[in-house]
Formats: sequence, structure tokens, C-alpha cells
Amino acid sequence: MENVIIIGSGPAGYTAALYTARANLDPLVFEGEISQDILPGGQLMTTTEVENFPGFPHGVTGPEMMHLFKEQALRFGTRIESLTVTAVDLSKRPFVVTAGGRTWETKSVIIATGANAKYLGLPSEDHFKNRGVSACATCDGGLPRFRNKPIVVVGGGDTALEEAQFLSRFGSQVHVVHRRDKFRASKIMADRALANPKITVEWNSVLDEVLGNDTDGVTGVRLRDTVTSETRDVPCSGVFIAIGHKPNTSLFEGVLDMDENGYIKTRPGSSYTNVTGVFACGDCQDHVYRQAVTAAGSGCMAAIDCTRWFEEVEAEEAHETPQTVAAH
Ligand code: NAP
Repeated sequence: MENVIIIGSGPAGYTAALYTARANLDPLVFEGEISQDILPGGQLMTTTEVENFPGFPHGVTGPEMMHLFKEQALRFGTRIESLTVTAVDLSKRPFVVTAGGRTWETKSVIIATGANAKYLGLPSEDHFKNRGVSACATCDGGLPRFRNKPIVVVGGGDTALEEAQFLSRFGSQVHVVHRRDKFRASKIMADRALANPKITVEWNSVLDEVLGNDTDGVTGVRLRDTVTSETRDVPCSGVFIAIGHKPNTSLFEGVLDMDENGYIKTRPGSSYTNVTGVFACGDCQDHVYRQAVTAAGSGCMAAIDCTRWFEEVEAEEAHETPQTVAAH
């Protein structure tokens, strides 16, 4: 019987592991097996330079940072299974976690399964990832390659316009490419973007191809007009894909409360889900901040919530035991 199983191995999962290990809960982390949707270490494993994680004044690569997260969790006795969790039974305690055809019983679960940025699926988009193609302006927008150069943002929702606004501080011009003639974003975000002289909207347009070469990375994009089917090339130093994220929460559908986009709902200011003994942290429950540092912070919250919950359960059990004995 495990005390706590942590599902996920990004900043949230490893921070939860570090804290629960130091609280003597002897955590077991399922880091996942490499597949199309899963990467042990999470989204940072595909990020080159991380410049905004405090404590690294000269930056650090995403994989190096996740290696350090893992090393620190291991130092305090965290155990790691390199398996992908395929089923979780949260209907009663102990909970049952299935991975690699085996099952584990556990008193509590911390979910840190993250979210994946959606991409368009173009081969050229994939080819230039980290060489001008990104899905996170906060992470990459400040890099030298984008300074005073045109930048393209794809999408018409709040994320796209927020990213465009942010990128307009760095780029000479930001082209927002949207497939319709009306934004999905909230009116206030749309008004702000339209009022920004550095933002131009390419209405009724889709990205047909990312253009570039192996020396310079991205040098432009080919857009296609959705009404006339005409194509045109727009020079740019980078492309930010902002068409939404997909939280990795399908395992918990119908059991845990989620919002309409599949993000797990947690009690405000905490990591408690609607199932007692189950906690959620990181991007699987956060569509707003989505940063490594906020994920790590919420992993810490989940570990502290879990540890305190354990103390309460143990105190209740200690209180109940003499009465049970007396009743017999
Ligand atoms: P979203 O609202 O789902 O918008 C996604 C956008 O990408 C839509 O404009 C959509 O076009 C476009 N899109 C989707 N698939 C596409 C494809 N294959 N090709 C081209 N375009 C595509 O996602 P989001 O902007 O990430 O926002 C998610 C949630 O977070 C929303 O509830 C949002 O309000 C919230 N959010 C809030 C803030 C804030 O308040 N500051 C900031 C960010 C996000 P269509 O419009 O044609 O469908």
C-alpha cells in the first residue's frame, strides 16, 4: 500500500515528490513512457532555453532543469516508475492505479499530468520547433532572435491576443493570423489588440507552411486566404502557435470535476479536488498561468495539502481506534 502516488514528472510532479518525500510520505512517481503525447519531464523537455525560472540568472536548458528537479526529488528517497498510468480507480479508498499491466493501491493521489500545447500538425512547423516556432511567448518571446523583427501569432482566442500583446514589446510587428473574420477572444482583449499599432490582423487566413532554412531557422510563413484560397508569404523571425492547450486529464473524466475545457477543478487557493485524498497541481488544473514556476509552486501546495490531509486522517484514526475497541 502506497501513501501517495504522484502521476506526472514535470515541475509540479517533482516538486510534489520533493515535499512529500521530505514529509516522510515515501512518494512513488509515475513519470510516464515516451510516446506521442507523453514525455517524462513534461513540456520543458522540448524547451531549449529557460530564462524565467528564478535561481538561474544565466538561464538553463529545459532538459537540464528537469534533470535537476528529478535529482533533487531522488535525493530524499522518491521512487520513480518509468511507466504511463493507464487507469485510475478513485471510487473508493484505497485508490487503485494501473500502469504497465500492474496495479498499485494507494491512500492518496497527486495528479500532475500537465497539458500539451496544441499545434497545427504541419511538418514544417515541427521541423522549426525551437528554431523560431514556439507555443509559449512568455517562455521564448524575449529571445534575441525575435527582437525588432516581425513575428507571427496563430489563433484568435484570448491566448493568441495576450501573446501578441506581449510579443509587441519585442518584435517590430506582430501579425495575428486568424482563420475567421471574428475573434473568439473576449472583447476587451480584442479591442486592446486592435488598438495596438504594432499588431496587424491577417483575417480569414491560415498557416500553410513555415518557411526557413537550417542556418537561420524561421524566416517567414506562407498564409492562405480561406475565402479566395490565394497564398502569400509574410517574412518573420518566428511563429507562435496559440490555438489552445489540451490538459492531460482524460483518465479522470466523469470522476473528477473539470471545467468545459477538461482542466481539473481545485478548491480555490488549494489543490483539493472533489474526491477526498486526490489532489491536482500544475497545468492539468491551470489554464491561466501555465509557467514552470507556477507549476512547481502548485506542486508544493499539493504536497502540503496531502501531508496535512494525512495528519488529519491519522489523527481521526487514532481517535477512533479506542472507541472501536471499547465497542467490542
Ligand atoms: P481558445 O479560446 O480555444 O481559442 C483558440 C483559438 O485558436 C480560436 O480562435 C480558434 O479559432 C483557433 N484555432 C483552434 N484550432 C485551430 C487550427 N487548427 N487552426 C487555426 N486556428 C485554430 O483557446 P485559448 O485562447 O488558449 O483560451 C483557452 C481558455 O483560456 C479560454 O477560456 C480563454 O478565455 C482563457 N484565457 C484567458 C486569458 C485571460 O483572461 N487573460 C488568457 C488566455 C486564455 P476559432 O475561433 O475559429 O475556433
